[in-house]
Amino acid sequence: GDVLKKRKIAVLGSRSVGKSSLVVQFIENHFVESYYPTIESTFTKSINYKGVEYDCDIIDTAGQDEFTILNSKHAIGIHGYILVYSVTSRKSFDMIQIVYDKIIEFCGLNSIPCVIVGSKTDLQQSISRQVPAKEGEDLATSVHAAWVETSAKTNVNVGM
Ligand code: GDP
Repeated sequence: GDVLKKRKIAVLGSRSVGKSSLVVQFIENHFVESYYPTIESTFTKSINYKGVEYDCDIIDTAGQDEFTILNSKHAIGIHGYILVYSVTSRKSFDMIQIVYDKIIEFCGLNSIPCVIVGSKTDLQQSISRQVPAKEGEDLATSVHAAWVETSAKTNVNVGM
């Protein structure tokens, strides 16, 4: 029979940008108001992409800041990265380049397969947006990453 292709995806970014909420929405199709912020968990899901079945491990990390030393678990054997910032937090956006550079440096590569995600777009009416879409897009272009804006709460652009 067909070999199930294994893929490991790591979700990184500042604390409380909505990483867990995105992963839970993607895996379990619901929005959790609050989640244990400091716990790292791995979710598995089988994903059919272009007719090929992938057995995916999605590692939801606790979050990083400028002082975090990259965990080798988040570099070795990882096939792709989801780097999340909140569109309502400039600081979380600035952290994307910092985390990206840490991964590049750790892996000794020029670039990594990566999707940059601007989260919490449903909040842009109530809390003002701090990161224009154009800036997210430009950052993604500069590091050859894909880019998308999402809301885990209203389930916009979470799945494929
Ligand atoms: P993490 O630390 O990056 O994993 O962030 P969490 O997923 O724990 O989310 C942090 C807080 O933001 C929680 O209170 C979530 O309910 C909230 N949150 C996450 N995603 C969204 C979203 O898309 N919209 C809104 N309004 N709140 C969100």
